[in-house]
Amino acid sequence: MNFGDFGLDKRLMETIEHKGFTEPTEIQAKAVPVAMAGHDLIASSKTGSGKTLAFILPAVQRISTQRALSKKDPRVLILAPTRELAKQVFGQLRLFTANTQFKSVLILGGENFNDQVKTLSKDPHFIVATPGRLADHLDQGHFYLQGLELLILDEADRMLDLGFAEQLAKINSAADHRKRQTLMFSATLGHAQVNEFAADMLKSPKRIAIEHGHTEHADITKRFYLVDNLDHKEALLDHFLANEKLQQTIIFTATRADTERLASKLIAEGKSAIALSGDLNQSQRNQIMDSFSKGREQILITTDLASRGLDLVNVSHVINFDMPKHTEEFVHRIGRTGRAGNQGDAISFVGPKDWVSFKNVEGFLQQTIGFTEVEGLAAKFKGLKPKPKKKPVKAKAKKAAKSEQAPAKAKRINKKTMFTLQDAGDAPVMRRKTTVAPEDIDKQDEET
Ligand code: ADP
Ligand code: MG
Repeated sequence: MNFGDFGLDKRLMETIEHKGFTEPTEIQAKAVPVAMAGHDLIASSKTGSGKTLAFILPAVQRISTQRALSKKDPRVLILAPTRELAKQVFGQLRLFTANTQFKSVLILGGENFNDQVKTLSKDPHFIVATPGRLADHLDQGHFYLQGLELLILDEADRMLDLGFAEQLAKINSAADHRKRQTLMFSATLGHAQVNEFAADMLKSPKRIAIEHGHTEHADITKRFYLVDNLDHKEALLDHFLANEKLQQTIIFTATRADTERLASKLIAEGKSAIALSGDLNQSQRNQIMDSFSKGREQILITTDLASRGLDLVNVSHVINFDMPKHTEEFVHRIGRTGRAGNQGDAISFVGPKDWVSFKNVEGFLQQTIGFTEVEGLAAKFKGLKPKPKKKPVKAKAKKAAKSEQAPAKAKRINKKTMFTLQDAGDAPVMRRKTTVAPEDIDKQDEET
């Protein structure tokens, strides 16, 4: 299939040629015609496979060739979970609308609200936004969505994970008319909440799944290393930073505080590193991403704030210093490398505190994962094994035990979720639950 087969506007074809793209990727080949035919669409394909263009091309084509439903309202709204991703998508959209009369604006949390009110009053054709801030403007009547023709949700599952269901529902009902088309894209669209949400928002959607989150990403080599503790993680990290052929590297940690701590440590050792976290203000965040994407630093240390969508061409390695709390983020984190046909390396550290997340990732990827060792840096920790099932308790004793425990908690703990240490030398016995309870969901990097 060629780009020419889509029947796109001449200006779009020129930009494609200018970008040097010779043929559509598989998701583009399948999704563009379906979207151009006006269908709602739920599309998933692996990280780095060109999903952005798969929605930008039909969006710009539609606006260029069809009459607007309204003169004032935005015609296309693209939502993304993080400011950094929204900014990147906006950059692509600007490129593909550069030689047209269409106006596009970017509305992000953390930026000046009144400036955005002015921008919205200029009746842009395209809005790219993070959902929280956009819903605030909608609430205050700074724009209307009755004329919206196309709603695009990039990384929809992550927006739901971050707790934006309410804002999305609000946006959905503000643009609830027969002619609206809705497109959803992600590498991971499997979980139940996404399907329920899609059932509310999309009309008889077509589904395209090229390679979903579980599928092995052939361009990314995954290696897992057992570790005993934080010092051990740091020693292994030093080893890899000294011995791997690195271009740029993204290191993911569990918390914001860890990004800073690790960056300071690496900088003190003379390495070129920078930390990005949701603690920083927007202009700092912009500066950091700008600087890293221009290659000024070799190492970016971040949280799941940067797990989704970011397309940084020189990232050769992703290091999971801590395993992610949300299982799907593993696929997205490692997908910051191995993009657009390039090869990438993903290294993950698995210590006692990471074990449950690791097992969840293993389950998600539907494979048994083996560990690699670095000579001289092998771990005593060999993993936790599930605690043997309790012997059946007599009904009476069971009832008494139950009345002493809070029901919700008892349910979670009793669900075969305990692990004990196996061959773990002198490491402490760990007891963790496998599932993330709603109250534990890390909203640290939520966008507003
Ligand atoms: P995804 O959203 O699937 O993770 P992106 O849309 O960010 O992937 O695209 C990944 C990279 O592939 C980008 O650098 C993009 O410019 C490039 N790309 C997109 N389409 C093509 C194509 N048809 N041919 C070659 N490269 C492409
Ligand atoms: Mg993407």
